[in-house]
Amino acid sequence: MRLQDKIAIVTGGGRGIGASTARKFALEGAKVVVADLNEEDIAKTVSEIEEAGGNAVAMVVNVTDREQVDNMIANTVAKFGRVDIVINNAGITADAQLLKMEESQWDRVIDVNLKGVFNVGQAAARQMKEQQGGVILNASSIVGLYGNFGQTNYAATKWGVIGMAKTWAKELGRFNIRVNAVAPGFIMTPMTEKMPEKVLEMMKSKSPLSSLGYPEDIANAYAFLASDEARFITGTVLSVDGGAVL
Ligand code: NAP
Repeated sequence: MRLQDKIAIVTGGGRGIGASTARKFALEGAKVVVADLNEEDIAKTVSEIEEAGGNAVAMVVNVTDREQVDNMIANTVAKFGRVDIVINNAGITADAQLLKMEESQWDRVIDVNLKGVFNVGQAAARQMKEQQGGVILNASSIVGLYGNFGQTNYAATKWGVIGMAKTWAKELGRFNIRVNAVAPGFIMTPMTEKMPEKVLEMMKSKSPLSSLGYPEDIANAYAFLASDEARFITGTVLSVDGGAVL
């Protein structure tokens, strides 16, 4: 098992890519903190992990709230003694074309996808510096690399988390902390299920593999980057998008 006894926090771990990542990490031997907003979603992921013989704990955390994020790290350390891996996965969309986007849509997405990632990254890095080691992985997107119609706010944040990953890799390497970003293509989750069939078909046609992705594809990438197999990989962005270019 590649993550045996590692302590991993997955934000947005209640569903979609986060839930799949939490399950994968538990299968690889990690003790997983499933951190999310919705108690029922969290409980579902935790019980799936436990039924499969894994180890998980639930934490209700809003990543935009500094105090809750600090408590998440403190509670994890109180329970397990350390934080080895943080998957900065929680993210939202609030789409509109530039000419129609409301300030509230901009603010909401920036708050979760950028400030939330900053909050979690900073709190985790402080703990990881103490323990002289750790891995932080930020959820970017194909949209962060290429832009996307109707997603000014989302694209800005997903490019922004790459900037944070590269900056943190430079600042934190001396404490044996690796930081990378993963840029998924279009992955079948509750986030993309909201999209019109026509758009999903179009996305599929952009991949040379003629396929959309599944949460497990991203979970596998996180598991690799979190493991010691990736010990020499930091400050990079790994595209997991079936070769699609928007
Ligand atoms: P999802 O199914 O919508 O799940 C996101 C999870 O994050 C939800 O459980 C959500 O909780 C939670 N969340 C939202 N705001 C939060 C907050 N403030 N604090 C804590 N948790 C919060 O999304 P997904 O498709 O799995 O995407 C996961 C990540 O991958 C996101 O960062 C997304 O941008 C990125 N990504 C996804 C795709 C894709 O095609 N699906 C592609 C590229 C990148 P609630 O449901 O209770 O709001």
